[in-house]
Amino acid sequence: MEDLDGQHHRIIVEPQSKIAKAIATLPIERTVMWRRDSNGYPVIKDIVSAANRDAIILHSRGSELAENDACIRCVSDMGPFLGCVADQNSSPPMGYGACSNCIWGAHPDRCSLSKFN
Ligand SMILES: [Zn+2]
Ligand SMILES: [Zn+2]
Repeated sequence: MEDLDGQHHRIIVEPQSKIAKAIATLPIERTVMWRRDSNGYPVIKDIVSAANRDAIILHSRGSELAENDACIRCVSDMGPFLGCVADQNSSPPMGYGACSNCIWGAHPDRCSLSKFN
């Protein structure tokens, strides 16, 4: 996980949902990187909710979508993380296929990738 000093640190994030617990057993695929502000600095968020924790688990271990396949909110630079990452392994997938950025705000239904829609 990217930290204030620009270094990457391993942090322990406790998954909340059953599906996040399963995803947490998968190998870490990427460092969680925060979205940049207009000066290029990472906008580091506090991890305060179960949805936040599950989103981090998914972002570190899910499947990253190509720019053309990313959800509408990620393409619009919404959500805390760089990149659009969704669960393409579980059945049904976490958040019905919503990406980690949309799951972070506890609104997987707003994700254009989600099968809620
Ligand atoms: Zn997305
Ligand atoms: Zn999304």
